[in-house]
Amino acid sequence: MNLDKLLEKCIDNGDLTRDDIVYLLKLDNESDVSRLLNAGDSVRKACCGDAVQIRALIEFSNVCARHCNYCGLRAPNTKIDRYRMSPDEIVDLAVYLNGKGLKTVVLQSGEDPHYTADMIADVVKRIKAQADTAVTLCVGERPYDDYKLWKEAGADRYLLRHEAANRELYKQLHPDSDYDNRMRCLRWLRELGYQVGAGCMVGCPGQTVEHLADDIEFFRDFQPDMAGIGPFIAHPDTPFHDTDCGTVEMTLKMVALARIVTRNALLPATTAIGSISELGREMALQAGADVVMPNYTPLKYRERYEIYPNKRCISEDPEQCHSCMRLRIISTGRTVSTDHGHSRKVPGVGGGR
Ligand code: SAH
Repeated sequence: MNLDKLLEKCIDNGDLTRDDIVYLLKLDNESDVSRLLNAGDSVRKACCGDAVQIRALIEFSNVCARHCNYCGLRAPNTKIDRYRMSPDEIVDLAVYLNGKGLKTVVLQSGEDPHYTADMIADVVKRIKAQADTAVTLCVGERPYDDYKLWKEAGADRYLLRHEAANRELYKQLHPDSDYDNRMRCLRWLRELGYQVGAGCMVGCPGQTVEHLADDIEFFRDFQPDMAGIGPFIAHPDTPFHDTDCGTVEMTLKMVALARIVTRNALLPATTAIGSISELGREMALQAGADVVMPNYTPLKYRERYEIYPNKRCISEDPEQCHSCMRLRIISTGRTVSTDHGHSRKVPGVGGGR
């Protein structure tokens, strides 16, 4: 395959075949890899512009009913100290953050049945009534009717990483979850009019380049509004405790390829890539990413939301995060967005380039 021609195709239209994707994922010579990352950056500039979106992440409960083999919040982990924020605490924090100029709040938790559909709907309604903010939910798989209720309550977006587009790999990672249900949830969310975020981990045990190509093909075919891509990081209290973590290089290649095939999706420079490398997020911003999600979970809970160890920004106070994140964005020659950062794929809502 001719790399020059292929990179031209990446920049012109991103119409990549599976063979193209596998070939690009396998690049290992430093200068070839950096050409691919630069192609991701060029597509980002042309299709998304220079502004970086800031999303305020609130991790409101670390209780989880699931047994995902990689995640520190998994139900069988008895070493973790569990917490739940009350609805009032969540609403007050979201409204406070909006007052600080943040125009998207992401409410994330484990799959915690304590929060009924009505409780979450009420939280969304109260936030929307008091703050000029987009609300993103990230609370896992739920019945169609819950998603519908929350949309009617005013939720704008939903993050549900597909985790692994390959059915067999999905099964190895999730002993008690169903691949078809995850995919069904993503389709429901789209049907209901949410801006939908998918995403995957890079470098999980058993994952091959072919599996990663499945993820890129999934992004190409599903065209999510958002896609979160981060390295797998081994957690000591999970079945995957003594396995290797994902690498910065492969994660960056995945970010660049996701940019190339989705063109204008919102792609975060994830906390996970910032956790395995000091400048990981900056590098992701220069390989196609255009979103950052600083953690605004109250400090007293933050270190307990340990999906993986050595998470970034575990003890910084919110004011510090605020300015640190802005400086990091500016250091890459980019600007900080001041709008709500809606999907560019939904006509009439996003920037639509
Ligand atoms: N319960 C919610 C939120 C899960 S936590 C849901 O199901 O969507 C958010 C994301 O963290 C997950 O989707 C997963 O991709 C990522 N994650 C979990 N454990 C991880 C680990 N050990 N390393 C890297 N990422 C991890």
